[in-house]
Amino acid sequence: MTDAADLAPIREAVRALCADFPGEYWRRLDRERAYPTEFVAALTKAGFLAALIPEQYGGSGLTMTAAAAIMEEIQASGCNGAPCHAQMYTMGTLLRHGSAAQKERYLPGIARGDLRLQAFGVTEPTSGTDTLSLRTTAARDGDHYVVNGQKIWTSRAEHSDLMLLLARTTPREQAKSRTAGLSVFLAGMRQGRDNGLTIRPIRTMMNHATTEVFFENMRVPAENLIGNEGEGFRYILSGMNAERILIAAECIGDAKWFIDKAASYARDRVVFGRPIGQNQGVQFPIARAYIGMCAAELMVREAASLYEAGKDCGAEANMAKHLAAEASWAAADMCVQTHGGFGFAEEFDIERKFRETRLYTVAPISTNLILSYIAEHVLGLPRSY
Ligand SMILES: Cc1cc2nc3c(=O)[nH]c(=O)nc-3n(C[C@H](O)[C@H](O)[C@H](O)COP(=O)(O)OP(=O)(O)OC[C@H]3O[C@@H](n4cnc5c(N)ncnc54)[C@H](O)[C@@H]3O)c2cc1C
Repeated sequence: MTDAADLAPIREAVRALCADFPGEYWRRLDRERAYPTEFVAALTKAGFLAALIPEQYGGSGLTMTAAAAIMEEIQASGCNGAPCHAQMYTMGTLLRHGSAAQKERYLPGIARGDLRLQAFGVTEPTSGTDTLSLRTTAARDGDHYVVNGQKIWTSRAEHSDLMLLLARTTPREQAKSRTAGLSVFLAGMRQGRDNGLTIRPIRTMMNHATTEVFFENMRVPAENLIGNEGEGFRYILSGMNAERILIAAECIGDAKWFIDKAASYARDRVVFGRPIGQNQGVQFPIARAYIGMCAAELMVREAASLYEAGKDCGAEANMAKHLAAEASWAAADMCVQTHGGFGFAEEFDIERKFRETRLYTVAPISTNLILSYIAEHVLGLPRSY
């Protein structure tokens, strides 16, 4: 595991970059529901979004711990990593299961920022969390696959050149096993627009650039199949631990931001002739949020450390995501309460961050599904679904 001293320069560099994107920048985007193009370009130019790409392909070849520190600092600075975090966590599928030719072809462009791998097409309207029931199909036709179906909540689809797409290649009843028959593709979004791909934005509670995506006979070259046909579910699952760890790190960053804001306000705001933070009724919730954040942070570090040692970290990654999402949401709620009426005022940025951090107990995996994982895989309880 990279130690804290090694990470200090990275953390400082991320903080310095984020300082150029203050609250007013994010407030304007939030009002306009616009994508933070300049912010994502700056992160890309600085090499932060290529943290996990090996140096031989033009990336920085950093560890998961370093990638997590980058995402944490973005959130702790008051910025939002959600418009670009997918590039970090979808990367593992390509790195671990992509062919040498696919890596040569795509990774240098992604590292340079010429190609954006920001869209991740898994969730569908009818199947929801039950990924194995997804209905989008990819049928082989010569040297292409023909894709038909629909995805929902495909974030950043309008701002990505590539989509990591999960589709069924063998009908469920003919598949070798319960989890077989799904395949992963690296689908070109630019070509797709003239080729049966339609993207419709979904207006959400926060500015998340999420969409519905429709495929009507969209042709994907067979060479864009990742790994073996029919084994896609396994590939996607293997990438989930990275996703859990990176999102958990973002939640830690959010929690730090909320705690910092609340403590600072509680020290300065004077009511009844003394700082509100002198009242235990105000200071205890801040201290409680801090304790929750620190405990979650330890689990995030543990999960990242196991991940980079190549050890099984399914339980730790899930627990880290759960604890961190709960900690950031608790800190958000506490921060609004500490600020009284001002917690609701746009100019304090708290209500925006409050909306943004609310997502993480639902997506990319909901609390119940994490609890089910721990119940079944760690505690040996019967499978509940
Ligand atoms: C803003 C946003 C961005 C997103 N971005 C992406 C993206 O880029 N790519 C992508 O593929 N997906 C994305 N998602 C989808 C996200 O991963 C799902 O919303 C999430 O996994 C939950 O699935 P669902 O919405 O279908 O809920 P459902 O599966 O319908 O579940 C609804 C509720 O029921 C609970 N539930 C369901 N089954 C069980 C069970 N067996 N036991 C206990 N509880 C259960 C769930 O925990 C949840 O609370 C995004 C979602 C949002 C809101």
